[in-house]
Amino acid sequence: MWVLVVTNGNSLIAYNVLEKRIINSGFCTLCGACEAACPTSALQIKGEKVHRLHDCSKDMDICPICYEICPHSEALLLRSLSFVADAPIKNEALGYYRKIVLAQSVDPALREQSHGGAVVTALLKYGIETKFFDSAIVSEAEPENPAKPKPAVALVPDDILSAVGSKFFPSSVAKAYGSAVYGHGKTDIAFVGVPCHVLALRKMEAWQHKIIGNLKITIGLFCFGTFSLSSLLKYIQEEYKVKPSEIKGMHLSSNFEVQTENGVVQIPLAKVEKHIMPSCRTCTDFTSELADISVGSAYPLQDWSTVIIRTKAGEDFVYKAVENGIINTWVIEQEPKVFERIVVAAMQKRTEALKEAKQLEKVYGYLPVLLLRETDALAHIKIEEIMAKNIRTVPQDMTVTRFLDFVAIHHHIGYPVVNEEGDPVGWVTLEEAASVAKKKRDETLVSQIMRRKLVAAFPDETALDAFKRMSENETGRVLVFDRASPKKLLGVVTKTDLMHTMTK
Ligand SMILES: Cc1cc2nc3c(=O)[nH]c(=O)nc-3n(C[C@H](O)[C@H](O)[C@H](O)COP(=O)(O)OP(=O)(O)OC[C@H]3O[C@@H](n4cnc5c(N)ncnc54)[C@H](O)[C@@H]3O)c2cc1C
Ligand code: SF4
Ligand code: SF4
Ligand code: SF4
Repeated sequence: MWVLVVTNGNSLIAYNVLEKRIINSGFCTLCGACEAACPTSALQIKGEKVHRLHDCSKDMDICPICYEICPHSEALLLRSLSFVADAPIKNEALGYYRKIVLAQSVDPALREQSHGGAVVTALLKYGIETKFFDSAIVSEAEPENPAKPKPAVALVPDDILSAVGSKFFPSSVAKAYGSAVYGHGKTDIAFVGVPCHVLALRKMEAWQHKIIGNLKITIGLFCFGTFSLSSLLKYIQEEYKVKPSEIKGMHLSSNFEVQTENGVVQIPLAKVEKHIMPSCRTCTDFTSELADISVGSAYPLQDWSTVIIRTKAGEDFVYKAVENGIINTWVIEQEPKVFERIVVAAMQKRTEALKEAKQLEKVYGYLPVLLLRETDALAHIKIEEIMAKNIRTVPQDMTVTRFLDFVAIHHHIGYPVVNEEGDPVGWVTLEEAASVAKKKRDETLVSQIMRRKLVAAFPDETALDAFKRMSENETGRVLVFDRASPKKLLGVVTKTDLMHTMTK
């Protein structure tokens, strides 16, 4: 199915656009999806670059594939979102999901080797042992350079175990997915990757690419960014006199920690940040919003991971693993600090990425992250058709501590604040509450931190009116009031609701 043929005006071969807009502009994160999906085997990742092995235009007149399935192109984004859109919870920061739990492998030795609860490894090992899937795409450590990920097709539990732990450099996992299908003939594959990897696979699914039928389940990792390998290793060698071959591992905490035989070298995060790949600066997805299951850290809890279950397939698999004693779980509602940290990180990543994208758009033209734009489709939908009704409100005298507990239980990020009469007087979000110093949270009331300006709309206005009002007021939501009784709150429309409408 061809959805959008992107051309540069004189060619219907997508590679020309891919090369100009993605590869040569520095937006490629080396996922390998273009190599796996190319029908003429024209592309290959070598070193830190996509190479064209032969001129595919000699074999075909038209081919849109590589550009459309690249996670950094604008094509197929809304269709990709539709694969998770039936989940009951729509959260502005975390995307669509069914449930969030805290989890850890029951094996303490495995947890010791991971950056969290070793949930991913435990789930993959269980899936292979029980033949729930026949292989898994993982990122092992390169033997002579353990910081560097080596994408691999895991066929037996030992292969899974050797991939435990995060490597903070690009891994061509989508290319390995292609090898699992073409090279190993695997038909039920589990896939682990960061958000852009998962997006590449969802785009193949939206494209109905022939290799995607072999995908059984996707596990997405939370991701703040990956580092350019050569750039960061060169910096570490020059500044800290550590050769790549001397690096035994890397760990991210309050510093960037490089483990060597002689001990741990601590590098301030601000020093390594400039080696993050350019695409990561405009990437809005922190929690792998399109995966069946997303896994990230559960800071401040050590030894645990946060698991966001998004699809029915993901839910069935995780609960089978729980029933069989593979992982322990704990309720996130009891750990508001974990929920707060994830939401704040996700919102920060999105806000920064959108700012950066607006700047870069002036240089590059259309950028994929600026997904929601003025569009005629929104003009044909009435606000009353899409607004969330039965809105939870919070009283203006609620403390910030109680508000954060409330957010962890109800999972929405923002709430209207009401006075004693029940009339809306402001709007408060988790982000504002999280910015209050911890020791002041018991004595600070939501009325002291709420936004007093209510951005309002009426049910008979259009979704486009709501979108324009959000843009003019730099907010992600409008409150919907009754025209006949303007203090009466009927509902809320968020940008997420508008996106949801577009996916439909
Ligand atoms: C580049 C990167 C950035 C991350 N940033 C954050 C963050 O900011 N906040 C946060 O909470 N969590 C982040 N994570 C996720 C976190 O580090 C853990 O991977 C996650 O919590 C799962 O932990 P676990 O103990 O269950 O995984 P484990 O059981 O240790 O399994 C980890 C799995 O990750 C896979 N993997 C390792 N490196 C890569 C890679 N480069 N690309 C694709 N797959 C890989 C391996 O195949 C392995 O199966 C990041 C991960 C990566 C790879
Ligand atoms: S044949 Fe391959 S390289 Fe050429 S446009 Fe199609 S996918 Fe891209
Ligand atoms: S599909 Fe992946 S490897 Fe290919 S250009 Fe895009 S990001 Fe790079
Ligand atoms: S920040 Fe985004 S683009 Fe960068 S590696 Fe992570 S998912 Fe990919």
